[in-house]
Amino acid sequence: MTVIGFIGLGNMGAGMAANLAKAGHDVRAFDLSEAALIKASEAGCRPAESLADCVNDADVVVTMLPAGKHVRAVYEGGDGIFKHAKDGALFIDSSTIDVDSARHVISEATLKGFAMIDAPVSGGVGGAAAGTLTFMCGGERGSFEKARPYLDIMGQNIFHAGGAGNGQVAKIANNMLLGIHMIGTCEAFNLAEKLGLDAQTFYDISSTASGQNWSMTSYCPAPGPVQSAPSNRDYQAGFTAAMMLKDMRLSQEAAKSAGASTPLGAHSETLYAAMEAAGQDGLDFSGIMRLIKDDF
Ligand code: NAD
Repeated sequence: MTVIGFIGLGNMGAGMAANLAKAGHDVRAFDLSEAALIKASEAGCRPAESLADCVNDADVVVTMLPAGKHVRAVYEGGDGIFKHAKDGALFIDSSTIDVDSARHVISEATLKGFAMIDAPVSGGVGGAAAGTLTFMCGGERGSFEKARPYLDIMGQNIFHAGGAGNGQVAKIANNMLLGIHMIGTCEAFNLAEKLGLDAQTFYDISSTASGQNWSMTSYCPAPGPVQSAPSNRDYQAGFTAAMMLKDMRLSQEAAKSAGASTPLGAHSETLYAAMEAAGQDGLDFSGIMRLIKDDF
């Protein structure tokens, strides 16, 4: 049994922490939300009173927070993890954050003698609850190997993507591609329909031809062809357009700092931002079909 400090028990963290507790670890949970702490306690975690209380005995600390600024504050803040963690503790940050913050915090952790990896996930709230997440990890291989037994409890596919921050690179490059091919898929279905071809017929042809892609076959934005897709429940999320916009923005920020040309990523960001401006970003990201159809 390992003492694990878990910080950030929101939609994702709640399920992840619960799985670590279920596996027999002593999980000390901390969140700013009282409701989140109560839920964590019902799931077998021990609620902590403060960040210090959460991490001071922990061999491993997992963070699952909204954005880079929260991660920096929780690790580096005056009363943060760096100040209170045990010597030699291992840190796993599973939040999706900007590459620069991830690299900065890992480098600070290393300077202070801690082991740390960035380990963002895909698989959504369902994957977090079921323990079937995909983890994309960056950091020293030794730190990754130390983290692996815990990642194996929370996830199913675990990748070491290279040095610090490379997990975040994999995550935002993947999600930029997802955001782009979702829009392309909406455009193709809309064009076919406007020209007199129904969604099912177009799906049957394109899903076995060269237009085939994940947005089409697993998450079809046109209602009908894929039963489990959010398009069949009025685009209820799923993965919200707001979250896609967050990842698009992270990808564009990173593209700018790396000098990488991403013209489609840049344009896709403006389309998801238009969903936000229309107050529709609580819909699943495949709801961008409505924007393409001018149907808000
Ligand atoms: P969430 O907003 O539901 O949860 C974040 C939690 O962090 C909240 O409970 C909040 O109270 C807590 N928090 C914020 N600042 C804190 C602080 N200083 N100290 C302690 N707790 C603090 O978010 P989520 O959906 O669980 O997502 C978490 C991360 O996972 C994000 O980076 C997100 O991009 C990423 N992610 C989410 C999904 C998804 O489907 N929800 C999928 C993949 C990745």
